[in-house]
Amino acid sequence: MDTFEQMIERGHERVCIHQDRQTGLRAIVAIHSTVLGNALGGTRRWHYATEADGLYDVLRLSEAMTYKAAAADLPMGGGKSVILLPRAGHPATEAEARAMGRFIDTFNGAYIAAEDVGTDTRFLDWMAAESKHVSGSVAASTGGDPSAHTARGTINAMRAALSHLGLSQEFHRLTIAIQGVGHVGFHLARMLVEQGATLIVADIAPERLRRAVNDLGATPVSPEEILSVKCDILAPCALGGVIDANTAHRLRCRIIAGAANNILDDPDEDAVVLKNLGILYAPAHIANAGGLIHLSGIYLGMSAQERNLKIANIETTMSQVLQDAESMPSTYAAAIALAERRIKAGSRAPKERVHAG
Ligand code: NAD
Repeated sequence: MDTFEQMIERGHERVCIHQDRQTGLRAIVAIHSTVLGNALGGTRRWHYATEADGLYDVLRLSEAMTYKAAAADLPMGGGKSVILLPRAGHPATEAEARAMGRFIDTFNGAYIAAEDVGTDTRFLDWMAAESKHVSGSVAASTGGDPSAHTARGTINAMRAALSHLGLSQEFHRLTIAIQGVGHVGFHLARMLVEQGATLIVADIAPERLRRAVNDLGATPVSPEEILSVKCDILAPCALGGVIDANTAHRLRCRIIAGAANNILDDPDEDAVVLKNLGILYAPAHIANAGGLIHLSGIYLGMSAQERNLKIANIETTMSQVLQDAESMPSTYAAAIALAERRIKAGSRAPKERVHAG
């Protein structure tokens, strides 16, 4: 499918491709929707096998941000950016980050960048030196690393899923498998261990795996095994697309509730497969909204108390979606329906769409 076809299918407003000749930066910003507000979403640094893979990733990630913001009842749109690395492990430099910051600045606030896989607060600080439209920076005090807030929200989503199945919310009775113990995954692991949960973890980065095993007493398994270990809750916290119709049949969990964006490869179909297998899927864009709520809340001028309340409300929203899903094809369908209702209710006319400029 060519770029326009993909944009039309998913409903994107704008996709911009950029190169910086001095640093070799190659990046894409995708703004899916500014119907509810300016679009906030992370900047991912990743080596994609092909340019088309990078485009596909940024299109689906930015679309998910629209639904995430709407489901969290935030007056924000959906956007995302990717930096296409020339090879895996290509080092992040200040020059690259600043070039990305200058690219972000050209959107005049319609797109606000934040952290994602491959970027951290240092990288965001460098970007923020070139643009005020960067969220999650430490130097510019725009919220810092949101991962702990994301993890907190994911636990609230787990609570809703447990209640929905009539199971106890006592985590010390539960075994939870976490795929990826990076920024969010490690916070999640730490919080769950504090509540007495038994953890099984996997990570392709040996030092991250070691940290979870040594500091938290988690049981390590290989990346190949993690999806099929026997557990109460499987929490994918690495990359997206990890569960499809094939992997779904290998799962041995009762609930999927994780922080990764786009956990399901083909959410419309895979969520139905999971429902038929009797596995409760807590839709990712609701479960992982804590970080967005934290950063958007700061951007929108909410108090810490208001932001915390909204993160706590993930449990209520998830409960509602799981309930709605009883009479719908899947929990994913119910989650999208909820977001679409909110987008319709909060739509701004094109002329009302003002940027922070
Ligand atoms: P991160 O890069 O810090 O962590 C990801 C971890 O997953 C890394 O340790 C990596 O080595 C590991 N990993 C990658 N592939 C793996 C595999 N096949 N098996 C096992 N481990 C693997 O990223 P993060 O910020 O923690 O984000 C994790 C996921 O959560 C991403 O999908 C991101 O888009 C999503 N997310 C993050 C936030 C946030 O606040 N950081 C918010 C919402 C959603």
